[in-house]
Amino acid sequence: MMAPALARTAVGYDTASVRADFPILAREVHGHRLAYLDSAASAQRPRAVIEAVDHYETHCHANVHRGVHALSQAATDAFEGARERVRRFLNARSAKEIIFTRGTTEAINLVAHAWARPRLGPGDEILITWLEHHANIVPWQMACAATGATLKVAPIDERGELRFDEFEALLSPRTRLVAVAQVSNALGTVLPVARIVKAAHARGVPVLLDGAQGVPHGGADLQALDCDFYAFSAHKLYGPTGIGVLYGREALLREMPPWQGGGDMILSVSFSGTTYNDLPWKFEAGTPNMSGAVGLAAAIDYLEDLGAAAVHAHEQRLLAQATTAALEVPGLRVIGTAADKAAVLSFTIEGIHPHDLGTILDSEGVAIRTGHHCAMPVMDFFGLPATARASFACYNDDADVSQLIGALHKAREVFA
Ligand code: PMP
Repeated sequence: MMAPALARTAVGYDTASVRADFPILAREVHGHRLAYLDSAASAQRPRAVIEAVDHYETHCHANVHRGVHALSQAATDAFEGARERVRRFLNARSAKEIIFTRGTTEAINLVAHAWARPRLGPGDEILITWLEHHANIVPWQMACAATGATLKVAPIDERGELRFDEFEALLSPRTRLVAVAQVSNALGTVLPVARIVKAAHARGVPVLLDGAQGVPHGGADLQALDCDFYAFSAHKLYGPTGIGVLYGREALLREMPPWQGGGDMILSVSFSGTTYNDLPWKFEAGTPNMSGAVGLAAAIDYLEDLGAAAVHAHEQRLLAQATTAALEVPGLRVIGTAADKAAVLSFTIEGIHPHDLGTILDSEGVAIRTGHHCAMPVMDFFGLPATARASFACYNDDADVSQLIGALHKAREVFA
């Protein structure tokens, strides 16, 4: 594995050495330097992650848990070692609470199926907010449709902040679960999750946090957050796709039936009855994504080596710089102006459809996301079909911001 870039924190954040860790950033797009500003959709991987996955594939791969041979044991050690690495990162009490999934979406669906559905009945309520990603809306709609429960939605204001009083008022004796994002992917709003958890727990209601956007921007100390479920995806944290995590409080996980049946989630099977495996394997039916887990562990090592606080400060500086410069582009409106924002700049430019904007920016080597960002209710709230969204990560630099702003001015000229 590559040695991490040196002296990043001693003399300030050394963006050039961070960028050098990400091989893809060296490529050109349409003859331009690549300004990759779409990390909220999927972050790029550092060489350390690519090499960790390669090392696993080259030296360790076999199926896990079942074999007595050396490679199976090496694969099992790598996979279970990755679980322990995630536990430490999240500050969870036990590795039994760390379940590998395909990503945030599957983690939330797991809770919706195995925890919520058996407990919900007509009149029961699930409480979410208006700024959720579809992954934290649709599984609850499906659970409500199957059980007769009702989905309640706490409103946001014009800045894209949660209206906390209304959220609190919606917590009722029938609320069975609160499920909220830690950070909105569409607007960048950081939700007041500590207050949310406190208010819900005061009424005995468990809380699921969708950490897909929260975990890359400051990490998650689950014992401090005190939530009951936490979901995130590796690919937003500089890790591979197809792997993510569901954290669940052990007592809750124990009460839950398995979600999917198959190999690995059982201790014994016979036609007279099946005994399920212990945690966490009870929720991991079938051969898991071992190389993905190894890549996730390497990504966590990488991020912690950089220092989550240093990365956060760097991203906040870029966000402030980009926001100030963007507001000088005629007709540009920032969507989402919460006081506490992660490194996401969502905007529209009068007279230019976001998709056209995205295409023009792409021709300048600037990768941003355009569309509804899988958060259609947020778009409805602002009366927009779509926004353009630039998002910043550990490897972005001042040149990326200049390239973005230059391309926005160019787009204005094209449409003038
Ligand atoms: N929640 C949020 C807030 C997200 O940003 C995303 C990804 N855009 C998801 C959930 C879903 O993540 P995944 O597609 O990796 O399952």
